Amino acid sequence: MKTLKRFVLVGGPASGKGTQARYLAQAFGLHTLSTGALLRQEIEACSDLGRQAQSFMDRAMLVPDEVVNDIVRGWLSNNDETPWLLDGYPRTVAQAETLDSFMRERGLGVDVVVWLDVARELIEARMLKRKECTKCGLITRDGEMVCPDCGSGMRVRADDNLEAFARRWQDYEALTVPVANYYEAKGLAVRVRVTEEGEPEEVSLRISQKLKEFAE
Ligand code: AMP
Repeated sequence: MKTLKRFVLVGGPASGKGTQARYLAQAFGLHTLSTGALLRQEIEACSDLGRQAQSFMDRAMLVPDEVVNDIVRGWLSNNDETPWLLDGYPRTVAQAETLDSFMRERGLGVDVVVWLDVARELIEARMLKRKECTKCGLITRDGEMVCPDCGSGMRVRADDNLEAFARRWQDYEALTVPVANYYEAKGLAVRVRVTEEGEPEEVSLRISQKLKEFAE
């Protein structure tokens, strides 16, 4: 039985990564770094990093590898001892290679990569209804005005519109699916294909089941 301590979560835009990251963090006691959420916070705080990221995110483009790699390296350096999950990183094969060499230097490695492979039609419909909490980042699907978890205001994400989605999906297929394939070739990927609308809890159960089989 393998012990799983270092997780990567890969998935398309609005595939439910944030929600599944929460379930996984709870189940395995993980610290989570969501590069997307961190970048949105930096934009809100008007930091240098935020300004740099915003010019790309406003155009629904990926932030350059060097910028994101630096963020992740800094975060991982402070989390060597803690089990963790990276949500939304790596998103390009170059990022995956950087992560690999960084981990190798520390005598560590990624234990498992969960690939949330959700059909595009499902995501498009879902994305137009989703909202994100301005404070704790909770994602909801039913147009709530107030966060059910922490009571803060909810907002629609600036990049949740059909035009931005089409661009993000293109990047996902061209750049991020190869990341999933890269980890599949290493025998580290657990692929969960979702083709029918269902509750996030059901997807979470399927992920747990597959992780159990993977660890055996
Ligand atoms: P997410 O919240 O994961 O959907 O990410 C939102 C946006 O943040 C993405 O569309 C990118 O512009 C940026 N971003 C997040 N993670 C990365 C990454 N690993 N590489 C490049 N850009 C990223």
